[in-house]
Amino acid sequence: NVALSTSLSNPPPFIHATGAQVVLAARRALARWSLASNIQFNVTTSANQDAVADGVSLITVADTGNNRALFSTGLRPGRARVTFDPSTGSITEADMAINPNVTRLDQFGNEVGSFFSTDGTNDSYDLESTFTHEIGHMLGLEHSGEVAATMQPRQGVNGTYNLPNFTTRTLASDDVAGIRAIYGPRNGSGSIAGRVTYNSPGGSATFGAHVFAEDAATGRVVAGNVALASGAYRIDALPPGQYRVVVEQLDEPVRGDQIGSNGGGYPASSLASAAPFLTTEAGTFTVSANNTLALDVSVPGGNPALNPTFIGTGSSGQLSKVAVPVVPGRAMTVLVGGDNLGVVASGGVSINSPFITVSNVQQVAGFGIPIVSFDITPSILTPPGDYDIRLQSSAGQVAYVCAGLTVDLPVGVPAGTNLIDNSQFFVAQHYRDFLSREPDTSGLNFWTGEIEGCGADTTCREVKRINVSAAFFLSIEFQNTGYLVYRIYKAAFGDLPGKPVPVRMQQFFPDTQEIGRGVVVGQGNWQQQLEANKQAFALEFVQRPAFVARYPSGTSATDFVNALDANAGFVLSADEKTALISELAVNPSDARLRADVLRKVAENQVLQQREFNKAFVLMQFFGYLRRNPDDPPDSDFSGWQFWLAKLNQFGGDYIAAEMVKAFINSNEYRQRFGP
Ligand SMILES: [Zn+2]
Repeated sequence: NVALSTSLSNPPPFIHATGAQVVLAARRALARWSLASNIQFNVTTSANQDAVADGVSLITVADTGNNRALFSTGLRPGRARVTFDPSTGSITEADMAINPNVTRLDQFGNEVGSFFSTDGTNDSYDLESTFTHEIGHMLGLEHSGEVAATMQPRQGVNGTYNLPNFTTRTLASDDVAGIRAIYGPRNGSGSIAGRVTYNSPGGSATFGAHVFAEDAATGRVVAGNVALASGAYRIDALPPGQYRVVVEQLDEPVRGDQIGSNGGGYPASSLASAAPFLTTEAGTFTVSANNTLALDVSVPGGNPALNPTFIGTGSSGQLSKVAVPVVPGRAMTVLVGGDNLGVVASGGVSINSPFITVSNVQQVAGFGIPIVSFDITPSILTPPGDYDIRLQSSAGQVAYVCAGLTVDLPVGVPAGTNLIDNSQFFVAQHYRDFLSREPDTSGLNFWTGEIEGCGADTTCREVKRINVSAAFFLSIEFQNTGYLVYRIYKAAFGDLPGKPVPVRMQQFFPDTQEIGRGVVVGQGNWQQQLEANKQAFALEFVQRPAFVARYPSGTSATDFVNALDANAGFVLSADEKTALISELAVNPSDARLRADVLRKVAENQVLQQREFNKAFVLMQFFGYLRRNPDDPPDSDFSGWQFWLAKLNQFGGDYIAAEMVKAFINSNEYRQRFGP
């Protein structure tokens, strides 16, 4: 339960936006966390104005004495007040206020007055970013050591690098992992946990050491955490795969004493006084599903030779401590500044990603501190996410700027261009949006060739783009992963209460990833892998609390099968029903039998045909717009209903109904990839 104060609809003068814009910013910020986890916010409105303990969890922007009293400095744009139940450790109330006396540092480092906006106005704070960060605290998260994370302790102002500061509106994978670690890690993910100690495995604890994991395949930094006073750390919610693990001291750009937020595990003062140690690359490790990799790391004590403190862009000539936005396919010059960076070797800068090449490393004078400049060339296929900058001294010491680079579209895409107009990017994005994976080379080339075969014929290109786009929903891979997830929810629970569809995007994508893991249709033993995934998913699904609550053990085989059939819309023939009842009757509470019966109903041909158009329209919202049909800016299912009626009217012909065309040409879709 979260209440929006009426002050949001009638914002004070330090917020340069309308009430409607402020409310939308708050709702979008809440929706982001909701999409990343299983949290469902029940949002109400309250006449309360003060972020005080009163039993109501409130988001307020009111300029009141109580709210002003929450801020000891103007440099803190927002503040969350979280009350824990001391006996259980769970959050009983959480409030958020915005700083009426907000300030910023100007180019000379002087503190000057500032304000909030929602449109990227220079020198203001982006209100939606502040909301998103503070909601993270309200949910129990502490600060992150990754520069690009939304839970990084320092919010940049609009105008940094001559860009609006919108990248912290969206959640980094580190934020997502953090929230999933608290609110129940999804089945199918793995963890890394252990202790960090000085010099030897039995050495003293390195309180405040930042441990982070880079996906070895893409180079993206996926998640990290900070060691507690005991030296213990734990990184949860990691998708299975190979990870490079690095341990660094939180000196800069994120400092250890900025990590603690709500009186959690990190008393800030002792973090700041931890003895220094050298950044340590622990190695590459395999993380598997539902397992915790035990990894203790000992780090050499001593003063690091390299101290990267600032990052920046050559085009703006600005240095900052907020992540540098990178645009796929667009070369740029990046700066890193800090003490002793003069000892970085000429080949001593790298990005651990096959998608980003580094060249032209050189020292730059004139900033007052040592600066290393280098050019990066990111491929058009660079996946969204955050990337580390790795520096190496001529003597071999390494340092990282963890998540110093971020691909967070559309931030940084120049006006007048849109990445989605590039055929290769368009195709790659469909793999991400519909199949929840990066493209395989042969598929990417095939679909890109379909469009590029048109040459300069614009009519041909438009037709091919629509057909290529629809092909992803129609593909064997999607029909057996995403559409199967849809049908499993439909058979298990029917449509959601008060809604015409059976599944929310929050559940849909993690579950689709679980069924699709390791499957590339046409490659290797994909059929066996898919079948194994389907069995494992169905077995796990019938053991989830919601399913067990709906079908308690003791439910008879007849009742179970009848209920699934009713949910599905009475799709079973009499013979099919008899066969399923006799299969389950052997042991009606057995999870394997239940899973098999659920699958058989979900894979029923009549169900597949009946739900096809409904699911096709729902995927337009999930895949292209990355939201539920009734999420902002919509508030109900009327848009979904409009397109379903149209698709039905044309007998399912998406070309005649102009449905796919409307979605891929919509401003809402296009604005994900360009200004
Ligand atoms: Zn914070």
